Amino acid sequence: MSPFAGVRSRAAKCAPPCPKPCEVKCQHSQCGRLCGAPCVPCKEPCVRRCRHSCCRRICSAECARAPCEQPCRKLQPCGHPCRGLCGEPCPRACRICDPEHFPTNPFMLGDPYDDDDRLVQLQDCPHIVDVRNLDSHMKSEEEEVQIKKCLVCRTPIINTYRYKNVVNKLLKNDINPIKEKVYGTIKQRRKKKVEMLETAKKLVATYITTGKSNNEFNNACFIIFNIIKSYQKKDGVSLLQLEMHDVYLNTLDIIGNYYMKYKMAKGPFEALDWTGDPARGARAPRHQKTV
Ligand SMILES: [Zn+2]
Ligand SMILES: [Zn+2]
Ligand SMILES: [Zn+2]
Ligand SMILES: [Zn+2]
Ligand SMILES: [Zn+2]
Ligand SMILES: [Zn+2]
Ligand SMILES: [Zn+2]
Repeated sequence: MSPFAGVRSRAAKCAPPCPKPCEVKCQHSQCGRLCGAPCVPCKEPCVRRCRHSCCRRICSAECARAPCEQPCRKLQPCGHPCRGLCGEPCPRACRICDPEHFPTNPFMLGDPYDDDDRLVQLQDCPHIVDVRNLDSHMKSEEEEVQIKKCLVCRTPIINTYRYKNVVNKLLKNDINPIKEKVYGTIKQRRKKKVEMLETAKKLVATYITTGKSNNEFNNACFIIFNIIKSYQKKDGVSLLQLEMHDVYLNTLDIIGNYYMKYKMAKGPFEALDWTGDPARGARAPRHQKTV
């Protein structure tokens, strides 16, 4: 499953953001961050080039040229001409040598493609699709922001080179901004971590070193304190996750505060008679002596 399938709803629902590795990759590298974190744009030179032209921008930028529309001039291993497009991975499909495995058109009730149809080998799944169908599918507007899927098997088309502009644009304009909101900027996360460590230290100092609270509460304070301490040097903890722990921290503070007030209010009573009645506790011994 792609990290971007329904990313909008996931970004809203998933808390903390998805911890799986990101599936976005290019000819140079795999993203390598967590699914919920914004992708780091590739800075290597674009590899879109063929005998007709080449792109000189960086990999993650919008390509300076459209994918080539000329037929591929290479030959297949069987000796028949390639059915793909110039500069793209050659689809292994020969209608003459292997008609049984020749791809069929999903829009034409499974008819095989015509001899002049150009085919694209998808790089996200094993399917081979007609370029006109696929181009119009990739460019079609949909209500929900999401990565387009293979017409045959519904695998998200993220790494098929012909459509890198479509995917890069979606990442840049729609998906990364959502991820950034959940994940926060480095500055936002750093600030939050420092604030939380201060609160956690205060919590431990106020309620634990004075010995005024009970064991379960102490343990809860120590656990949250250690978690926050471990976050200080760790990247990859989202802002949303930090905020959730912050809520927990504040809840502990409120509980600690109430508990201390309760103890202080209870204190004078405990010192008196076991019945808890101050009048009776104070009077009884005096009464005995006078008898
Ligand atoms: Zn790249
Ligand atoms: Zn990524
Ligand atoms: Zn390019
Ligand atoms: Zn070309
Ligand atoms: Zn080819
Ligand atoms: Zn052949
Ligand atoms: Zn497919």
